[in-house]
Amino acid sequence: MAQTATATISETLAPPASFKWEIVAGIAFIHLGALLAPFTFTWSAFGVFVVLQVVTAMGITLCYHRLLTHRSFQVPKWVEYPLTLCGMLALQGGPIKWVSTHRVHHAFADRPQDPHSPLRGFWWAHMGWLFPYDDLIDNPAKYVKFVPDLQRDPVQRFFEQTNSLWTVALGGVLFVVGGLPWLIWGLFLRTTVVYHGTWLVNSASHLWGYQSYNTNEGSRNNWWVALVSFGEGWHNNHHAFPHSAAHGLRWWEFDITYAAIRLLGFLRLASRIRLPQGGPAKLPEPRPLSLRPIKLPLPSFSL
Ligand SMILES: [Zn+2]
Ligand SMILES: [Zn+2]
Repeated sequence: MAQTATATISETLAPPASFKWEIVAGIAFIHLGALLAPFTFTWSAFGVFVVLQVVTAMGITLCYHRLLTHRSFQVPKWVEYPLTLCGMLALQGGPIKWVSTHRVHHAFADRPQDPHSPLRGFWWAHMGWLFPYDDLIDNPAKYVKFVPDLQRDPVQRFFEQTNSLWTVALGGVLFVVGGLPWLIWGLFLRTTVVYHGTWLVNSASHLWGYQSYNTNEGSRNNWWVALVSFGEGWHNNHHAFPHSAAHGLRWWEFDITYAAIRLLGFLRLASRIRLPQGGPAKLPEPRPLSLRPIKLPLPSFSL
């Protein structure tokens, strides 16, 4: 038993065997496109940016995270699927893989198997982890074990297989209707901004801020991450009560995603909205094993 555990840990800590170059190229392409934003500004493009930022960021925070991953509230399927589409348009992968990766994070937060612990460095947690192949979260035979609920749903499986195509279709519509300004602001810049809002939860909210609860990992409550990530920066609260629809638990911990969930409840579209119950969730004490930083042979690029 001990041998198996040791083997798993050393396997997880081994330097990455290969890179997912399509992810590297895709994320670089989105960032390069965003650099054109100052040269393509129009007020209508700015409006499209704001609307799509809210829609797709909420697609991640409200749908992918609080609904699909943690089932912190319930909605009928005819509401779940359009919300999932909003999440897919954030271009962070299909719902099944996203949810699986995040459930792995909760199961092993700041342990060797955690896909994006900042114990390997800020940039690793922020975006470096996205590029190397990680068998636990990239091998379908392994990651589907964390998502039996979604894997059973044929619509979610269809979304998983087609997730990037929806963004290509959106890009086509934006370009046809509003030309290059709408394409750049509505897709490239907006996706970049939502990316970093999400990524800061993994990096900054596991490094800086206060801890209201002892959860035996490094999650923090961070007000400025909460502002840019639609309430997800109250991350220590979230690790303490993963199934709570509310992440902000004090009166000053503003959580706009929870406000949106309450609105869905008011409209009778969401039910069984869960709040903290019982004592905070705690992982076992970490083993006396530190994560060694991984040197990434990434091409140098700046953000
Ligand atoms: Zn976390
Ligand atoms: Zn979570």
